[in-house]
Amino acid sequence: MRTLDVDVNRSSWALDLPPYEPSPALAGTTSADVVVVGGGITGMSAAWHLARRCPDRRIVLLEARAIGNGASGRNGGQVLNWLNGVAHDTPDDARRDFAFTQQGVQLIEDIARAHAAPATFTRNGCLELCTDARRAEAAHAATEQLASYGIPVRWLSRADVRVPGVHGATLDPTAGRVDMLALLRAWKPALVAAGVAIHEGTHVRRIDDGSPLRVVTDAGEVRAPALVLATNAYTPSLGFFRDRLLPLHAHALATPVLPPDLWRALGIGGHDGFSDDLDRIAYGCRTESGRLVFGGGSNAAYAYRYGGAPVFDVSPAARARAFAAVRATMNRYFPALASLEPAACWSGLLDITFDRAPSIGTTGSRRNVYYALGYSGHGLALGMQAGRVIADLYVGDRDAWRGFPFCERRMPRIPPEPLRWVGYQAYTRLTGRSPRR
Ligand SMILES: Cc1cc2nc3c(=O)[nH]c(=O)nc-3n(C[C@H](O)[C@H](O)[C@H](O)COP(=O)(O)OP(=O)(O)OC[C@H]3O[C@@H](n4cnc5c(N)ncnc54)[C@H](O)[C@@H]3O)c2cc1C
Repeated sequence: MRTLDVDVNRSSWALDLPPYEPSPALAGTTSADVVVVGGGITGMSAAWHLARRCPDRRIVLLEARAIGNGASGRNGGQVLNWLNGVAHDTPDDARRDFAFTQQGVQLIEDIARAHAAPATFTRNGCLELCTDARRAEAAHAATEQLASYGIPVRWLSRADVRVPGVHGATLDPTAGRVDMLALLRAWKPALVAAGVAIHEGTHVRRIDDGSPLRVVTDAGEVRAPALVLATNAYTPSLGFFRDRLLPLHAHALATPVLPPDLWRALGIGGHDGFSDDLDRIAYGCRTESGRLVFGGGSNAAYAYRYGGAPVFDVSPAARARAFAAVRATMNRYFPALASLEPAACWSGLLDITFDRAPSIGTTGSRRNVYYALGYSGHGLALGMQAGRVIADLYVGDRDAWRGFPFCERRMPRIPPEPLRWVGYQAYTRLTGRSPRR
């Protein structure tokens, strides 16, 4: 018996939900019109959109462990606008990309309202914190400029955001917070009702190119003329985009449930979440139960494992060091939390591209493998929208997406091992930053 190389989700999102019973694993050989590999937000959204666009097609979704076991169930909870790594040359480009991700935020809200418990999604805005005076000045000017394009962002001064070391912040009141694990679990029956066959505990071991494609699992096989790769940073282990994606482990923690007076002392007001403006970004959100989820913030809060290993399999001492680093950053921003022991510590995988920008398109010798990848840690609203884009590409409706910066974008090449590992270690240790082009 081979061990699964997708580890168990130990996040506070999982901790705060009742035990979950996954759907039965695939056993034996079957066929489908489309097989979706991966049960995170991208795979679930793609299956849902495909089932709605093509009700006569058989859609099969295969998930190695359980729905939301990957980054979708381990993240920082912020539902954010914009595409990572994409700059805007014109006001129209900015308005287009903002509107695109706004649709993703809206869809998350609509699905949460229709299927999940009331506070699964909230929309009280998210902050981008500026950690030095010069950057704050530039961010203030950029915020005013976006506002002049009609994008509803606002500048908050140092006096409005009472977080140590913060010189001001951009508020996006249209951003929010989601418990994506709860949302995906609650949404699953709607997908099944729409005809999607979901198999959990079903690790895809091999995908044979061709038409039909052959998707081989531990106890079965699916043949299908089309496939959706919704496997985020696990994708290289299936043989795709090995030289384009850097699987990066991101470490995060959650506090115990905080009383209201402690929340007030944190200085982020009633907003849902925040991230800072540093290269090794720190971020967090307030959960429905009243925990602070906090992640990132230093070199030690992120790790690249040789060969892109999907499991953060290090010694307890190395693990403790990583989480101590996250905790130290959290305590610097929020000294009132310094005496609290975390209620949960976990790691999740990010699919980083060299320029941090995503790509949605087709690959394979017959262009029948649809993919949405490279979100680079900014993928909840985008993952939801990616499912829609994939369904459009599948039915041949490409025109709607032509000109979008992610559409069929060639991700820049990342050097192979051992150069990659050596380069990553050298660069991060020397600069404290993350390598990028
Ligand atoms: C710590 C952390 C904090 C983050 N914070 C934020 C945030 O605040 N806001 C934001 O927008 N984004 C955030 N992100 C990023 C966001 O979570 C991801 O971009 C998004 O969830 C990716 O969704 P996905 O469906 O593409 O991938 P995933 O959710 O990773 O889903 C991929 C699925 O594929 C399955 N799988 C993998 N290999 C196989 C296989 N061989 N066979 C079958 N199944 C397989 C996995 O089990 C997994 O469930 C964060 C990520 C992490 C890790």
